[in-house]
Amino acid sequence: MIPEKFSESKIISRLEWDAIPVPIGKPYFPHVPNKVIIHHYGFPSDKPNFKISKSFKGHASIRELQRDDIKELGLIDIKFHYIISPTGAIYEGRPSQYIGKHIPGYDNGAIGILVYGNYNVETLTFVVKEAIVWLLLHLRYKHGLELPKDLYGHCCKALTTCPGYNLNAYIQKLKAGRP
Ligand SMILES: [Zn+2]
Repeated sequence: MIPEKFSESKIISRLEWDAIPVPIGKPYFPHVPNKVIIHHYGFPSDKPNFKISKSFKGHASIRELQRDDIKELGLIDIKFHYIISPTGAIYEGRPSQYIGKHIPGYDNGAIGILVYGNYNVETLTFVVKEAIVWLLLHLRYKHGLELPKDLYGHCCKALTTCPGYNLNAYIQKLKAGRP
């Protein structure tokens, strides 16, 4: 049972941001979530200002992410389960009960959260921190995850600077119980 304070109603649904529906005949695969992996949008490294916070354009930016994942990467849907905007809004991505496509080798069981921005060059704002904490609590109730124990930055599982130095430092603070 999810307490009212942490209910889905705070999350911008696929219907609200006008997601492309998954085509019939391309099924999702169910999984049992057991961890949360946080990402940022900090690549390619030769374009440090690519998709930084100030380039965020609301629902249109989420549609653009989904379109790129489907059309350019050939995926059935957006890679991530949730996207946190620079304004602290939380968007529903791929439904969390289905396997995402954000961390090769670890996707099964991994809830993927994209924090929009480049946290190698940007610092985290209060509203973004607040949205991360709220979403982790929501996921704790929704999927029974042990958080912050089951929380990781992408770089814990792969050789990458994702989710950016500043966001990764915040994750380490959360894991140490000092939000
Ligand atoms: Zn990543």
